[in-house]
Amino acid sequence: CGIVGYIGHREAYPIVLKGLKRLEYRGYDSAGIALYDGKDIKLSKTKGKVADLEKRLLKEIPTKGTIGIGHTRWATHGVPNDVNSHPHYSNSGNLVMIHNGIIENYDALRKELINRGYTFTSETDTEVLVNLIEDVKTKENVKLGKAVQIALNQTIGAYAIAVFDKQKPDEIVVARLGSPLAIGVGEDEFFIASDASPFIEYTNNAIYLEDGEMAVVRRNKGVKVRSIKDDKLVDPYLQELQI
Ligand code: GLU
Repeated sequence: CGIVGYIGHREAYPIVLKGLKRLEYRGYDSAGIALYDGKDIKLSKTKGKVADLEKRLLKEIPTKGTIGIGHTRWATHGVPNDVNSHPHYSNSGNLVMIHNGIIENYDALRKELINRGYTFTSETDTEVLVNLIEDVKTKENVKLGKAVQIALNQTIGAYAIAVFDKQKPDEIVVARLGSPLAIGVGEDEFFIASDASPFIEYTNNAIYLEDGEMAVVRRNKGVKVRSIKDDKLVDPYLQELQI
């Protein structure tokens, strides 16, 4: 399983697609990509291989956009099928998220969200988390980064996530606990991936998030890393990759 993301000035699709292919070695049963085309989020996902996704996506959506996220899934909650594949939308359709890992208390969180009027189309723990983030964001009227932090502090489990908001499509929020997550740092462009292989050809500067850290990755503005638990700003170590 793996995650890939891009935000910058280039077309995201070819970078994300190629990145997913590079992460195929990690094993997976489904794949999906979401792109923001300047107006809306376009999403395509499928059970099967990245090659199947490529064929389907080209029929379903335009490949335009300079912000995108991609996922290969290793199903833990819900069978491998198209609906359970990632990315997952929040109920409003504003947030879109990918996730590797397991949210162990997803059932209790899901029930709470259903009581608050949320509905679910998939069986995944991931769709619970993206709606929990949306619920916090609207209830507390906070920015996406803060909402992610508050929501993650209500979860038990493991994750590498990447999420963005179509109402603020100049940032991707990422977080990790127990699953790897690297940020490739370019010039006014950033790459997100489970390991450096998807972005090594574009930059050799990377930040490896530590367990319990999250980052807000802003186009033109850089990366802010914080600890999820206590919200402390962390000075990230920019590693130079050997090519
Ligand atoms: N728990 C999530 C799911 O079943 C993510 C699985 C993964 O790591 O790919 O959809």
